[in-house]
Amino acid sequence: MLRILVTGGAGFIGAHLCRRLIADGHEVICLDNFFTGRKSNIAELLNHPRFELIRHDITQPILLEVDRIYNLACPASPVHYQYNPVKTIKTNILGTLHMLGLAKRVKARILQASTSEVYGDPLEHPQREDYWGNVNPIGLRSCYDEGKRCAETLMMDYHRQNGVDIRIVRIFNTYGPYMSENDGRVVSNFIVQALQGKDLTVYGDGSQTRSFCYVDDLIEGLCRMMNQDGFIGPVNLGNPQEYTVLELAEMILKLTSSKSKIVYKPLPANDPAKRRPDITLAKERLGWTPKVDTVEGLKKTIEYFRSVLKV
Ligand code: NAD
Ligand code: UDP
Repeated sequence: MLRILVTGGAGFIGAHLCRRLIADGHEVICLDNFFTGRKSNIAELLNHPRFELIRHDITQPILLEVDRIYNLACPASPVHYQYNPVKTIKTNILGTLHMLGLAKRVKARILQASTSEVYGDPLEHPQREDYWGNVNPIGLRSCYDEGKRCAETLMMDYHRQNGVDIRIVRIFNTYGPYMSENDGRVVSNFIVQALQGKDLTVYGDGSQTRSFCYVDDLIEGLCRMMNQDGFIGPVNLGNPQEYTVLELAEMILKLTSSKSKIVYKPLPANDPAKRRPDITLAKERLGWTPKVDTVEGLKKTIEYFRSVLKV
């Protein structure tokens, strides 16, 4: 049994990770400032004897005795990370610094949740880990993508300079139950719109592509990366099945049997034109590959939103 800190543990991915770590028999400290996370995401864990919840903001230092740290704290939806961009970059830089300082002091292994956004609007396709990316340093997304790039730099420098035991994971678009209905990302937006009979808002002409990974597959990848020795990453974790945003909208309309229509809205600035992970490294080093097909994952997510929205 290990004592494991999950920052951002009340968020979408964090809530799934906390459940998995408790099920694996660990002691879990979930730390969150509840900006985009909710207590209800972890409701049934609150009385568990091996689970502890701390309201804390990682832009402030904290000292805890832990063996491992999953650093997930950071809003992930463009709507939320652009709401207070200075706070987002502080979370990525000061927050990661504080978690690395903690890892160094208590000799904990630390895993950083990085992102496919470090590749920006990629000029190489699919994206491999050795691609350095095409990122606008002064754009609306840079509080997030440059913040995450700097967090990777901090991880590597603490590793090289101080011998901190690090793992870096680049997460590609992930979806599933416990996404908030007002999260603002494409899968939850389209499902909620379809279930409520509202228009599906496709940004641009919908020809941009994304590759969607079901959350259970991602959690398995995160745990495998944390638990193996000798490979610090960065490693891509994502599902290489690639769809245009328009295809996704049509798929969701069909799976929900919704009569909603598709409407077109302006494409946000610096919205990447395409994105698909090359997961060769994850296959070779972690023996990991996603198991849940997109249609199957969407059906489970639709069921979740049906129960939350009571429709
Ligand atoms: P989320 O917004 O649902 O969860 C983020 C959590 O972090 C929330 O509970 C929020 O309250 C908390 N948080 C934010 N700022 C904080 C701070 N300063 N101090 C303490 N807590 C703070 O997002 P998610 O989808 O669960 O993403 C989790 C992590 O994975 C993020 O770091 C994100 O960048 C990364 N990621 C996610 C995806 C994805 O598709 N879901 C893709 C790439 C990377
Ligand atoms: N998108 C869309 N309609 C929405 C929300 C998002 O067409 O209601 C598009 C968005 O412009 C982007 C893609 O869907 O091209 C994925 O957006 P999301 O915010 O989920 O993630 P990210 O852009 O960070 O990959």
